[in-house]
Amino acid sequence: MLVDTFNRPVKDLRISVTDRCNFRCTYCMPFDEYTWINKKEILSFEEIARLAKFFVQLGVDKIRLTGGEPLVRQDLDKLIDKLSSLSGLNDLSLTTNGSLLADKAPALKAAGLKRINVSIDTLNPEKFKRMTKRGDLSKVLDGIFAAKSNGLHPIKINAVIERDVNDDDIIELVEFSRENGFAIRFIEYMDVGNSNSWTSQKMVSKKEILETINGRFPLTEVGRNGGTAPSVDYQFTDGRGDIGVIASVTEPFCSSCTRARLTADGRLVTCLFSQTGHDLKSLLRDGSTDEDILEVIASAWRKRRDRYSDERLEALLSSNGYDPRQHGKIEMITLGG
Ligand code: SAM
Ligand code: SF4
Ligand code: SF4
Repeated sequence: MLVDTFNRPVKDLRISVTDRCNFRCTYCMPFDEYTWINKKEILSFEEIARLAKFFVQLGVDKIRLTGGEPLVRQDLDKLIDKLSSLSGLNDLSLTTNGSLLADKAPALKAAGLKRINVSIDTLNPEKFKRMTKRGDLSKVLDGIFAAKSNGLHPIKINAVIERDVNDDDIIELVEFSRENGFAIRFIEYMDVGNSNSWTSQKMVSKKEILETINGRFPLTEVGRNGGTAPSVDYQFTDGRGDIGVIASVTEPFCSSCTRARLTADGRLVTCLFSQTGHDLKSLLRDGSTDEDILEVIASAWRKRRDRYSDERLEALLSSNGYDPRQHGKIEMITLGG
């Protein structure tokens, strides 16, 4: 089995299909303009599917499509069609802001997508507009209900919680999820990329999120799915659904991180906080054989030593503290959140 220097196998692949997005969430990509990947550098669906096959051969059994906003990429259902037939792949999912989902849900489902995550941080339309800068909550809600009526299941909501911004929306989000049969995953605000002005004060911890929910809807801990998933899951004691919390800052899970990322321009990135990636696109385009490319991927994984969130927590707890500006990173929109 292929493992890295900390004995972690490669099990999950996040594929960023585009670095573009029609939103500008303040915690993710607050600026209007970035240095966008040139169109001819973006991998074609055939190139993505060829690489995906290699990752599956090396042990990956879960793939998530993400971005940027994956649904701004034309004809994404055609990629889903190619990936859903990969033998050895047990799970294919998509994370989206939901704004284009109402129209696209039927084609995504028909192409073989089973489940979906939709990011919704507040149910207040004005606040939603402020947080996403360009988003229209009603379109996102149309999208999530279209996903439901087209049979995508489970549908999970991702909500990033930022102090004094949407920490007062937690209960309403929980109620909405319970009423509509959605699962919800709260995410601690992270210092992804280089432009979101993250501070530890803005982050609402897992402990605080759970205290807020438990006060109203008592919870029982279920644990991490498979023992290694990023989310720690909880069931409502009344049996009406579940929630999860992804506590990358306060309870990092690097020791069980089995996630590789593929950027839209074909770089293999081994950590969400990486500064660089391994260029696979050149190999795809210079006639390299399957064996050559497989070996480059395997060799990069064998050398992997990433444990950024563990190191951040060590720094946060130390007398020197932690300054995110000292660590240049690839933007999250590029490497796939
Ligand atoms: N555009 C899609 C979306 O928003 O769902 C997919 C890409 S987005 C980068 C993937 C996930 O990362 C979203 O759920 C988003 O909320 C989350 N995310 C973005 N910036 C984050 C941050 N600073 N901290 C924690 N999660 C973040
Ligand atoms: Fe776009 Fe998703 Fe980032 Fe928001 S979180 S700016 S929707 S990529
Ligand atoms: Fe994995 Fe890097 Fe996140 Fe740690 S910081 S869990 S190694 S992606």
